[in-house]
Amino acid sequence: MVWALMAISKSLKLKDVCYDIRGPVLKAANAMEEQGHRIIKLNIGNPAPFGFEAPQEILSDVISNLPNAVGYCDSKGLFAARKAVVHYYQTKGMLGVDVGDIYIGNGVSELIVMAMQALLNNDDEMLVPAPDYPLWTAAVTLSGGKAVHYLCDEDNGWFPDLADIERKITAKTRGIVVINPNNPTGAVYSKEILEGIVALARKHDLIIFADEIYDKILYDEAQHTSIATLANDLLCVTFNGLSKSYRVAGFRSGWLMVSGAKAQAKDYIEGLDMLASMRLCANVQAQFAIQTALGGYQSINDLIRPGGRLHEQRELAWQLLTDIPGVSCVKPNGALYLFPRLDPAVYPIADDQAFILELLKAERVLLVQGTGFNWPTPDHFRVVFLPHREELTEAISRLARFLADYRRR
Ligand code: PLP
Repeated sequence: MVWALMAISKSLKLKDVCYDIRGPVLKAANAMEEQGHRIIKLNIGNPAPFGFEAPQEILSDVISNLPNAVGYCDSKGLFAARKAVVHYYQTKGMLGVDVGDIYIGNGVSELIVMAMQALLNNDDEMLVPAPDYPLWTAAVTLSGGKAVHYLCDEDNGWFPDLADIERKITAKTRGIVVINPNNPTGAVYSKEILEGIVALARKHDLIIFADEIYDKILYDEAQHTSIATLANDLLCVTFNGLSKSYRVAGFRSGWLMVSGAKAQAKDYIEGLDMLASMRLCANVQAQFAIQTALGGYQSINDLIRPGGRLHEQRELAWQLLTDIPGVSCVKPNGALYLFPRLDPAVYPIADDQAFILELLKAERVLLVQGTGFNWPTPDHFRVVFLPHREELTEAISRLARFLADYRRR
């Protein structure tokens, strides 16, 4: 007698969870690499593989502290690292925060999931930007909540559309996610727009979740304001980490800061404490990097100023992309990405994932489709401008060739 084995299904909690940056197109690219094809990957914001070196003093500190990192630490993180984070926000104008308000995690990613799991009940709503860094939508969905996407306006430098935000607030809305500088658009929000968001949050009693992982990656005199510094009367949860500005994404080192109306949020904070303790603590070795990183020489500034590698690559990629007929792009003022638009009259794309897959197969260039960032229409894609000039030029010229073929169809 032959027993039929039951299919093993994933949890229903994962039914609508989606993270396309590492989704089906990447799987196809990996399969092609296994067959021996070389692919130019402009899909993930991971600076180290593109030759962006981590500051030597960070590496030295982490290496020399290895013997001190063999045990668990406090669930919220090492005191010295959290103290350094507090000091960092004090220099940014943040008042009333102390070491107890800082939670260190295995990257911002872990903390985003934790912050949503600790808060949301089934069907609670969270305002998330469109386009977004899709982990936010995924974390809200995994936590039983509903991500309600508010539009960022391409015609207004990709700034959030305040009227759209207000229209989408309901009795179930618990908070608003603000990603500034933004991934994927590269927008750096003005103080005025942030004040507009704060006014809405104040009026409708919303928690502000501020993802500021690119706060030091700014171009062309852009200034970054931490939204929490404008909202001391509201509960704000601010996220940042070492992955991008200090080029140590593999360390998985990030933090979360709770500020503002903390007394009102005692129960939520207990939830955060519970989840932090359930994962015991974040990787201890990488926490030794935090104090050194925040207090040391800020070598990121050498990369973002005119003549610096990131600045020049952004310039080049933007120029090459906008030279292609039917492609337009708001020039990013921050972060590591471009989010160009394909004019639908020139490129009538019905399914942008299929389009990006076709590009991969034809030209061996890997990008991410705009709908992967919860952008509602199939007319954008994201480019990471981390590769060296030669590789960027090669990748974008292959894209241009593919698009020229597309126009001839
Ligand atoms: N937030 C944003 C906006 C990001 O772009 C990323 C990574 O790309 C993260 C968070 C995750 O960062 P971490 O490496 O700290 O988990």
